Amino acid sequence: MANETVAEYFGCNVFNDVVMRERLPKYVYKAVLRTKQLGTALDPDVADVVANAMKDWAVERGATHFTHWFQPMTGVTAEKHDAFISPAPHGRVLLEFSGKELVKGEPDASSFPSGGLRATFEARGYTAWDPTSDAFIKDDSLYIPTAFCSYTGEVLDKKTPLLRSMEAVSTQALRILRLFGNTTATRVMTTVGPEQEYFLVDKKYYDQREDLIITGRTLFGAKPPKGQELEDHYFGNIKQRVSDFMKDLDKELWKLGIYAKTKHNEVAPSQHELAPVFTTSNIAADHNQLTMELMKKTALKHGLVCLLHEKPFAGINGSGKHNNWSISSNDGQNLLDPGATPLDNMQFLTFLCAIIKGVHEYAPLLRLSAASAGNDHRLGANEAPPAVVSMFIGSELEEVIEALEKGKKYVSSTAEFDIGVDALPNFKKDTTDRNRTSPFAFTGNKFEFRMLGSADSISCTNIILNTIVAEELSQFADELEKADDFNAALKSLLVRTIKEHKQIIFNGNGYSDEWLEEAKRRGLPNLVSTVDAVPEYTKPEYVSMFEKFKVYTKVEIESRTEILLENYGKVITIEALTMLDMAKKQFIPAAVKVSKSICDAALAKKELGVDNAFDVSYASRVSALTSGISEAVNALEEKVIASQGIEDVEAKAKFCRSDVFVAMQSLRVLVDELETIVSSEDWPVPSYTDLLFTV
Ligand code: ADP
Ligand code: MG
Repeated sequence: MANETVAEYFGCNVFNDVVMRERLPKYVYKAVLRTKQLGTALDPDVADVVANAMKDWAVERGATHFTHWFQPMTGVTAEKHDAFISPAPHGRVLLEFSGKELVKGEPDASSFPSGGLRATFEARGYTAWDPTSDAFIKDDSLYIPTAFCSYTGEVLDKKTPLLRSMEAVSTQALRILRLFGNTTATRVMTTVGPEQEYFLVDKKYYDQREDLIITGRTLFGAKPPKGQELEDHYFGNIKQRVSDFMKDLDKELWKLGIYAKTKHNEVAPSQHELAPVFTTSNIAADHNQLTMELMKKTALKHGLVCLLHEKPFAGINGSGKHNNWSISSNDGQNLLDPGATPLDNMQFLTFLCAIIKGVHEYAPLLRLSAASAGNDHRLGANEAPPAVVSMFIGSELEEVIEALEKGKKYVSSTAEFDIGVDALPNFKKDTTDRNRTSPFAFTGNKFEFRMLGSADSISCTNIILNTIVAEELSQFADELEKADDFNAALKSLLVRTIKEHKQIIFNGNGYSDEWLEEAKRRGLPNLVSTVDAVPEYTKPEYVSMFEKFKVYTKVEIESRTEILLENYGKVITIEALTMLDMAKKQFIPAAVKVSKSICDAALAKKELGVDNAFDVSYASRVSALTSGISEAVNALEEKVIASQGIEDVEAKAKFCRSDVFVAMQSLRVLVDELETIVSSEDWPVPSYTDLLFTV
């Protein structure tokens, strides 16, 4: 393997198109292609042939097991492995894998989160093969990407609704394309390229911090003398140890057919980013899950720990995930690429206006798609977009839209244009890509949704984004299909849309306080935290939209809402309990010890007649802080107990935010202050400097 080139080993662990073409009889290969493209079910005989070929291929590559790999609502993936072996005469084994095993699995669903669904159905579930995402080998198992449903039909995972939402966009976008005279496209795909941020810390320090081990973030920690203020880390030269990790990671990802493309240092010390080449949403979601998993595993091989938490360190930039998103048709057009002819421009502007309307009308849904306890630390903290959803389209496009709205000519640097008659000049990507503060930015031929947290699955955001856009395109198509004069109807539709929805467009600095004021005037919702955002999910108008496209039923949305709120409460509770544990078992005892040794020194000095004023005042400071910490511990404990008495999931989550979280902050402030006056030798856990500057 040592001398193999990337081209030789890329995708070597994937049962991809090349392998299928090679190993499947032609009629079987064609049947699989049909299933992949049209979603038709595979004939059982055909499934048997595919399964057998998959097994042979996997076994040749050292695999012993297969697993249905799925994405329950935990946010991480799940797998249960079965060996290919079955007993044969004379104590021997046969290696078998049937079409039935490929197509359907039956994991016990009862231990996965199902929200309110638990009450309404017997918790039995099955997994169903998703042939649109290739099977692969990892750790000697054949992984089969699957969707996860209950026996009564409720969706229990993140993949099924994503596939449904992609279908919805395809159907509705094709209606629009037909209106523009397109007869060649038969399918429209949404594409995603998620940029993934992460931190690397030395495992030897990580292992000494209970908070990192249990919660993924530091719950205590005084500010280091140097943070990110010198701005010397972003795009900086990559340290050897990190570079070795990145190379190893790239190779693992490439073997799995994941197009890991860009890697660089991020803003904060010890923070980095990886971006893949974009692909179809469903595959991008699968690949992002694998990327996060392999980041963690590969880091361990290098004595490092990869932190995917949104805010591992207070006062230092946190990590996000940028969801680059576009729509393209299978006749080769990126529908968000401004075109080269007047007709193309109008088509582009139609899609653009649909997205503007969708983001404006459904902003709370997009906001809640990025809501989590971890991400609450980032949004609105001047390092990531605010909690207000707005859109950036760049000044050039804004002028185009304004010209369209007012029926005026658009004046560019080179000429004057009549929109809809002349072809607009090509938009330069660099003019649209400069705003880093917008949650939803047009970047030349795609949108970049920047609110997502680094640990989030990208599914929820893309399900919502796709469904919103499908809804708007369907409204547009309904209106335009009825029109006698298409051009006149289109123009009036676009002008009306711009008039009614341009408040969502904001090209200025999204991090400024003025914007929050302005957003309020515009009536844009500011859903500050998870507990403000998540309950919006069940609004009747949102529910009916999801039901219209069969993405979710009302019950499924209610269950997801409950899971998100329940999860929030659990995360805060775990963090609070971890803080209590650390304070009681580590910080208070350390403080007592320090106090004692200072007091001993003060006494000794007194006996010798040496001035001990410093020791006395030092000991008093430590003592005062320790009493404060002890009181804060009691206060936090009371809040945790109170929260445990609340039955209602939403009320409990809200209490965790308003009371438990606040009590956690009060405790932290005191412990962090104590850390600044105690010698590092006496401090029981590694400091921010140890964690951030030693890799
Ligand atoms: P930046 O840091 O400037 O935002 P990057 O190169 O880091 O840019 O990331 C851009 C991401 O956008 C990449 O993952 C890229 O593959 C993705 N991307 C490019 N074109 C599309 C598209 N049509 N659809 C979805 N994602 C895209
Ligand atoms: Mg970026």
